[in-house]
Amino acid sequence: MSRLKIIDLRSDTVTKPDDAMRGVIMNAIVGDHGYEEDETTLELEKYCANLFNKEAALFMPSGTMSNQIAIRCYTNPGDEIILDASYHINYFEAGPTVDLGKVYLNLCNTDDGVLRISDIEKAFLNKHRSALYNYPTLICLENTINTYGGKIFPFEILKEIFEYSRDQQLPIHIDGARILNACAATGIAPQAYAAYCDSITICFSKGLGAPFGSILMGTQSLIANANKFRKWYGGGMHQSGFMAAAALHAIKHNISSLALDNNHAKLLALLLKDNHFLNVSPENVDTNIVMLDTSRLKVEAVDFIQMAKKEGLLLYPWSKYMARAVTHKNIDEIDIRNAAVIVNNITDNIQNQKLACNSRFMPDIVHYEKGSR
Ligand SMILES: *Cc1c(COP(=O)(O)O)cnc(C)c1O
Repeated sequence: MSRLKIIDLRSDTVTKPDDAMRGVIMNAIVGDHGYEEDETTLELEKYCANLFNKEAALFMPSGTMSNQIAIRCYTNPGDEIILDASYHINYFEAGPTVDLGKVYLNLCNTDDGVLRISDIEKAFLNKHRSALYNYPTLICLENTINTYGGKIFPFEILKEIFEYSRDQQLPIHIDGARILNACAATGIAPQAYAAYCDSITICFSKGLGAPFGSILMGTQSLIANANKFRKWYGGGMHQSGFMAAAALHAIKHNISSLALDNNHAKLLALLLKDNHFLNVSPENVDTNIVMLDTSRLKVEAVDFIQMAKKEGLLLYPWSKYMARAVTHKNIDEIDIRNAAVIVNNITDNIQNQKLACNSRFMPDIVHYEKGSR
């Protein structure tokens, strides 16, 4: 019997390069970028700066490094950055942000991951402000918002925050690892989002399907500074063109598949919406992420995921009662339909076990009546 395909929905980072991408990697024109001579890296940076209408761009090994170097550029040790607690820069990067950036994370706890002016003002006013003490020098936003199931940061609110940030002279950095999924869903162009921030990142290794890399985009002076810190942080690469070629291929050819990924996530949500235990509603699925809330089943996400794994479905334990499913290039509609069946079966099994457990303590008459029918 043929082995069932493993349906890997842990993340959109799990994709593997197809033959076309392997071809461009093999044939990439490269040079030593320690001397800024790698033509493919320069081409990628120019292409992205143009796509987002920013002055300059810098190729980075990872999204984490893009964020960390942006933070390093905007702040001095001891400064504050204001962001929502759910954002990657805190949720996964609090360690490096404190260790490398040496900044204080002034965290907002919004209900929906959308940072509003009122949240920023509250964060600002939650402590005494004078020239003697530390001061916020950066606002960080995230789009799409991972913790809230790939939620799109509302464009109108971004514009409002941007206006406010000009008055306050606070730069805005957008962690846009999956912002192209938002563009695919809203039809808002990358340049339009980028117009309302000082710097923005994207990841090539997520929905775009490249094996590696991220890019930081902003003003000439920011990028010149970031270039120095990239070297300091150990991200100065030599024949980076092999990886830049994959990224360039991804951004030129794979943006169109993001809409399909978004549709697949919506389909998964539709197929799970009648499962009243997991609290999935299709209208809350903006892009390519579906969160499964296991709390009503009284099962922890890690245990739910273990059961799914036995059936060939991989999910990611986002938090104690939240399992994450992410669609991507290597997932098709059949995978989604199979994934939904697996998730619904697991839910049924958990429920049936609970019922069987409860019935053991029920009066005998119940069993008798059932058995006599
Ligand atoms: C994946 C991700 C990152 C980090 O990217 P790496 O390349 O894994 O370091 C940053 N921010 C968000 C929102 C992400 O989803």
